[in-house]
Amino acid sequence: LVSRKRKTENTIIDVNGAKFGNGEPHYIFGPCAVESYDQVAQVAEQIKNKGLKIIRGGAFKPRTSPYDFQGLGFDGLKILKEIADEYGLAVVSEIVNPSDVEKAAEYLDVIQIGARNMQNFELLKAAGEVNKPIVLKRGMSATVSDFINAAEYIHSRGNGEIILCERGIRTYETSTRNTLDITAVPILKQETHLPVIVDVTHSTGRRDLLIPAAKAALAIGADGVMAEVHPDPAVALSDAQQQMDFDQFDQFYSEVVNKK
Ligand code: PEP
Ligand code: MN
Repeated sequence: LVSRKRKTENTIIDVNGAKFGNGEPHYIFGPCAVESYDQVAQVAEQIKNKGLKIIRGGAFKPRTSPYDFQGLGFDGLKILKEIADEYGLAVVSEIVNPSDVEKAAEYLDVIQIGARNMQNFELLKAAGEVNKPIVLKRGMSATVSDFINAAEYIHSRGNGEIILCERGIRTYETSTRNTLDITAVPILKQETHLPVIVDVTHSTGRRDLLIPAAKAALAIGADGVMAEVHPDPAVALSDAQQQMDFDQFDQFYSEVVNKK
């Protein structure tokens, strides 16, 4: 169902007026995790002021250590929804439990399936039965073929609104958090009709690489970019080393999003 052989024209997914797959880049910015109302509101204001349409933020955080901040859960989704309504933004947030998908759809405009759950087949099936677009992230050890099959799981249950997100894979290289598999973008575009975006934050894990990685993603044909922004990254409850502060966000905006 997701194959380009089956449908030659691009699937276009409209998220609050940002039409992923229409040939222009679209952006998903926001904090790694929802930490408080005030934290999300500050980021929303920056996004809104730039004329952007979408905010992200994790409420269910799949952390490597059980002792790290796990997210605010549904309270976090409520914060996102309230702020998004106030600022006219669409919300993207990760859901980890198949039984939460339906309830979460009341708060979210787009449901994210994270790298660690790319082959959680029950979650993929649940995502296939909900009437919301899905951002499906590539598993850190998934081949392109595994990734396409995961998308097929969602589509096979009826939901064809899927945005694929390359977010880096595990390799022997340690200079970045993951290795951004940049050629996955044109391969996914050739093999499927779905929009493809690149998460420059989790792929690189390095703030100094966000702008060049985003430029590379767009140059190679990505339909958009995801990146994390936090009012004060140094005190962030997750991913403190890689989120942009507001000055860096301004710079990213002027060098990548709105180049003069
Ligand atoms: C995220 O986007 O918040 C996230 C946890 O990313 P990933 O699933 O790609 O690690
Ligand atoms: Mn993060």
